[in-house]
Amino acid sequence: MEKINCNVIQDILPLYIDDVVSDDTKELVEEHLQNCEICQRVYHETKTDLENDMKISAQTKESSNEANDLKSFRKFLKKRKIKTILLSIAATVICFVAVFTFMNKHVTYISYKDAGITIVEDNKDEVKYKTNIKGNYRWSTSLDRKTGVMTIHFEQSLWEKYVSCIFYPYDNLHEILKKDEIKEVYVDKDGTTTTIWEAPEEEQKAYLSEEHTEPLG
Ligand SMILES: [Zn+2]
Repeated sequence: MEKINCNVIQDILPLYIDDVVSDDTKELVEEHLQNCEICQRVYHETKTDLENDMKISAQTKESSNEANDLKSFRKFLKKRKIKTILLSIAATVICFVAVFTFMNKHVTYISYKDAGITIVEDNKDEVKYKTNIKGNYRWSTSLDRKTGVMTIHFEQSLWEKYVSCIFYPYDNLHEILKKDEIKEVYVDKDGTTTTIWEAPEEEQKAYLSEEHTEPLG
């Protein structure tokens, strides 16, 4: 067999080092290396170079992987933070709606004592009285036009009693129109009635002698 040219061997050395040559080529290269010092030297140099290259590329890959890991971890944290914030907001809104609904639905009956009714004006047409109730409230009335007796009671939701009263602390005035009624009574929850106002006897007689068919007010 002819002696193989050193250039040819040196050309295929990288492939040989990478171990991607056929067994025949491998044999040829090894045989040549045993007898050629120059090629041996080139072989060692190339091998060292290739190994260094591989090391560097491995390091680069590793550090880029680390950077990617850190990046995706930050992304994950950010996502989780946003999720936590959104969940907190949702929980707060749900709690608020629940509390608001409960406090609005839960209506308490205001007793005559707590209503704190005071008559503030009494002229020939009307009587005005105010209550001592804090916040907004609703009232329920019923007028018996035959007897001229108006019954009334006040109610307030928990929301009105404890929350909205902070924002709307106004005095509540009620009017009694003398042409419509001669007596107004407050009805407590247990049915107890307390007279808020009553017309003098002559006015009561006059009222009862008339027919009351015209609209109220
Ligand atoms: Zn050689």
